[in-house]
Amino acid sequence: MLDLSMGKSSNEYQKMADDLISSFRSLKDKNVRVFIIPKWMFWWATAFVFGRFIFINKNFEKMDKVSQVALLAHELCHVEDSIKRGFLQELFMLLYEGLSWGFDTKLSRRVERAVDLRTIKKGYGKELLHLELAREKKFSKKKLEKIHSRGYLSSQEIKSLMGKKK
Ligand SMILES: [Zn+2]
Repeated sequence: MLDLSMGKSSNEYQKMADDLISSFRSLKDKNVRVFIIPKWMFWWATAFVFGRFIFINKNFEKMDKVSQVALLAHELCHVEDSIKRGFLQELFMLLYEGLSWGFDTKLSRRVERAVDLRTIKKGYGKELLHLELAREKKFSKKKLEKIHSRGYLSSQEIKSLMGKKK
């Protein structure tokens, strides 16, 4: 069996997620768990969700606190969807996403965009903007184009969406 025992830092992120769950009414009694797992297990992402479990890796630990809050809020939106879908549908989706990674971005575009929009709606627009600005500072134009083609909102989109909300 995989050892998913939580180290000190994982408790820290668990607490961060627990605090965020006050904004996620549907998750209050769902016992959402955060695990740190080695990077080789999912090298393509900083965090991913299966059911009520959020898996994060070293990339996550390297991020600043505000970005971590933004990403956890984003992942909690995925958890909401995932719990609604149920185990089998979630498994199919994971397989499909895994197999189509790199060439079919339609699914991820729909999913990630909806999740980012919901993250803003739940009140984490400022944090999401911070995360995105850090990303835009760090990555090349080409890499950013790829990220945005997968549905993640650009800082400009976040700004204009937050402006509309007021
Ligand atoms: Zn996502």
